[in-house]
Parts: sequence; C-alpha cells; structure tokens
Amino acid sequence: MAVMWNLWHGCRKISEGCRHCYVYRQDKQYGKDSSVVIRTANFALPVKRKRDKTYKVPAGETVYTCFTSDFFVQDADKWRAEAWAMISERRDLKFFMITKRIDRFQVSLPEDWGEGYEHVSIACTVENQAMADYRLPIYKELPIKHKIIICAPLLEKLDLISYLDASVEEVAVGGDSGSEARICEYDWVLDIRRQCMEKGVPFCFHQTGARLRKRGKLYRIRREFQHSQARRAGIDYKR
Ligand code: SF4
Repeated sequence: MAVMWNLWHGCRKISEGCRHCYVYRQDKQYGKDSSVVIRTANFALPVKRKRDKTYKVPAGETVYTCFTSDFFVQDADKWRAEAWAMISERRDLKFFMITKRIDRFQVSLPEDWGEGYEHVSIACTVENQAMADYRLPIYKELPIKHKIIICAPLLEKLDLISYLDASVEEVAVGGDSGSEARICEYDWVLDIRRQCMEKGVPFCFHQTGARLRKRGKLYRIRREFQHSQARRAGIDYKR
C-alpha cells in the first residue's frame, strides 16, 4: 500500500513545466497563494507512533513525498535536515520523491548519505530539451541509488540518448494537464521509447495529458482517463 507524505505545501514556479501546476490550480479554487510554502501538520508522519509505541506507518510501505511541493524548494531549507533524519530513521520503508530542483540536491544532505540511501528513489523531471540538458548532466553525477527520469509535461521532442544508462531505472512520460494544456505529440512519446529501447532502459507512458495529437488528429482526454488511455496504448517497455 502507498502512503502519501506531504511534508510541506506550496512551491515556486521555476520552469515551463510548472506553467499549469496542479497545486496552483487547486489552491486557486480556495483563494490560497501557492507560492507561500508552509510546513504541514503531517510533517512528522513517518515517525509518529501509536499508543503501543509502534510506528503508525508499518514497515514495508512505499511513501510518496511532497505531492503539493518540491522536496528541494528553497523555502523548505530550514526543515529539510529534519525530514532527512526521519527518512534515515525509517530504513524499513521506501521513499519516493520527484523534483525539478535536482541542482539543489546537496542542500542539507545528511552526512551519512554516502553513495545514497538504498531505500530512497529520487526522480528528476524534465519537460523540454533545455531542461534535459541542464538537469540531467547534474543528475547523472549524483550519488542516488534509484534514479528515474520523468518527462512531463512533455512539451517537445527530446534527445535523451546521452543521459540513458544502466543507472536509470525507468523513463516515464506524460503530457500537460488542465484546460489550457499544451499539446503532446504521440510521436515524441514513441521517440523517447525508441531511445530507451536502444539503451535498454525501461520506459513507461504513464499518462496522456489533456491534449494528445496522434497521426495528425488531436484528442482531448478527460483527467480520469489520462492514465488508462496511456496504458491502453500498450507501449511500455521493460528490459
Ligand atoms: S516544481 Fe512542481 S510543485 Fe513546484 S511549481 Fe513546479 S510543477 Fe508545481
């Protein structure tokens, strides 16, 4: 079972992929300013205990972090060391995080990080070639045990070939979301898949986005079908 651990809420837009950020879209409905980053009441979730002193989150769970923020956002620098300490304490869990700020990975990194914690996966997001060419060379050099490249929202054709090697456990691709979503060309998706197959890196088309163009025809896909439609394409590749 998956556990959602939202340590802090709010984020700052830093690149084109942030334009239609769902955090901003959701907060807008409630008149909230998403650029204000606040620590949540669930901050200490992994180390919370029950009356009998056992952890509330049982061993073996996968914990997805920061789904309404970015673990490495600057505004959370003051809390990150404490967050790492909780992650370090819970070696019996698996932690998964996605970031657009891999260039801030070293900020508050635990002293015992070494070649990376075995129980932590860090995914790096890229949306266009400029961000791929900025973030992926940094990512490639970092000591992280489990690496995943997420191309979402995919905004143009990407050349990833020089960044793909055995250290990348998967490349996942998805389109843009929201009523103003930018078009994702299915050919771009297939081209990334081709590169992954060439380099023997697993590939997953995880969601179509709201507007997908395939063989010249534009499809508008409702949010609830974006994952299932991608699965129906049947183009995932495992090595
Ligand atoms: S980094 Fe992620 S959470 Fe932060 S503004 Fe961009 S899309 Fe939103």
